[in-house]
Amino acid sequence: MRKRIVILGAGTGGTLTANRLRRAYSGHEAEIVVVDQDDNHLYQPGLLFVPFGLAEWGELVRPRHRQLRKGIVFRQADIDRVDLDADEVRLSDGTALGYDVLVVATGSVLVPEETEGLTDLGRMEKVFTFYTPQGAVALYDALERFDGGRLVVNVVDMPIKCPVAPLEFCFLADWYFQERGIRDRVELCYVTPLDGAFTKPVASRRLGGLLQSKGIELVTEFNTGTVDTEGGESRRAGRLISYDDREVPFDLAVVVPLHGGAEYVGRSPGLGDELGFVTVDEHTLQSRKNPNVFAIGDAAGVPTSKAGSVTHFEGEVLVENIRSFLAGRPLDGSFDGHTNCFIETGFGKSLLIDFNYDTEPLPGHYPIAVGLPLLKESHLNHFGKLMFQWFYWHGLLPGRDIPGIGSAMPEHGKVRQST
Ligand SMILES: Cc1cc2nc3c(=O)[nH]c(=O)nc-3n(C[C@H](O)[C@H](O)[C@H](O)COP(=O)(O)OP(=O)(O)OC[C@H]3O[C@@H](n4cnc5c(N)ncnc54)[C@H](O)[C@@H]3O)c2cc1C
Repeated sequence: MRKRIVILGAGTGGTLTANRLRRAYSGHEAEIVVVDQDDNHLYQPGLLFVPFGLAEWGELVRPRHRQLRKGIVFRQADIDRVDLDADEVRLSDGTALGYDVLVVATGSVLVPEETEGLTDLGRMEKVFTFYTPQGAVALYDALERFDGGRLVVNVVDMPIKCPVAPLEFCFLADWYFQERGIRDRVELCYVTPLDGAFTKPVASRRLGGLLQSKGIELVTEFNTGTVDTEGGESRRAGRLISYDDREVPFDLAVVVPLHGGAEYVGRSPGLGDELGFVTVDEHTLQSRKNPNVFAIGDAAGVPTSKAGSVTHFEGEVLVENIRSFLAGRPLDGSFDGHTNCFIETGFGKSLLIDFNYDTEPLPGHYPIAVGLPLLKESHLNHFGKLMFQWFYWHGLLPGRDIPGIGSAMPEHGKVRQST
């Protein structure tokens, strides 16, 4: 009998899953329905470049339905809730969509309202974010007007999408102000809730060293409780205040707000955790409660980075497991947490990290011993970062495999005895 697979979200994960499934099943075997609230697919990694005039946000957007293979049904609608007991999705227009298999791919949302004073983000006078198109565009103007002072980049709390993006922002800001010839008039400061520049020890040391070499101050274990835009006694434009009453003054703040799962997850009993991320097995990506429910990408509550690369690696495993599930076989596909990120460091260079649930980012080369340098700045990696955008539209979203690079993290080329 023809099965119905409903995919919630037509972003990175929803699109690549739908396209992979369409190739795996004929139209007689499965109906594939994808739901999204709008028809604008944004290449989110490009937002990093907008504030520095290195990309225009309009170039980053394409119609969602055009990224889906022929034969996939695209429904533009708001999701109201999922009824796991009835195997049904309720849309805000009142329609109900029954499913045999449900894939949740609705990503994460920013929740600035959870941080006192961060509503100033709406005014975009002193406090900005580059995590939204509007914010990234406003920040372009703010940086152009900025003639000197203290620029603070702050991650309120984890998890966030692309945890290296705020670091990249710092490195690019260093480059940008040098290009403008005013770097000596700008103090740059990176404020993080982590105990170092990054989560994993080797990468944290490398990235911390890079911040230091570029003269960027690092403030760690800072849990922002309030963003005050008066500045208090600091005589600056504003200050971040932590829960343990430490203060970081700023003239311009670039904040990455708290993230949560899509709102409807909270209205769908049994689907998600307290942050709204879907509770799935970290290896099979199958719901712990309902075996016909899976999650991919930022929506999945798994202990790895929320990144497009992760979503791509998960896609291969997810589709294999959905096929096994529908065929009544045990799920063999096992996601190992594989993540890789190009970290833009300015001056046409990038640094690459590659890791999984068990292996932290290590030096060496990727994917084999003669490949791209790991944990090392290089022009080649910068080229890789730029190529990622092309690959995103033409390889990743269509659900194509990369020759020689599978879902599992490659071991070859990694140097285990590191400094
Ligand atoms: C500034 C920035 C830089 C980044 N840089 C990188 C990078 O260099 N490398 C990298 O790998 N990743 C990067 N990422 C992260 C990457 O973009 C995300 O991890 C990836 O897009 C996640 O895919 P997803 O499918 O889970 O979510 P998304 O692509 O966000 O898709 C979620 C979809 O769900 C829809 N949706 C949500 N709620 C509803 C609802 N109620 N009703 C209907 N539809 C709904 C949304 O409209 C959206 O289309 C970056 C992200 C940002 C913000």
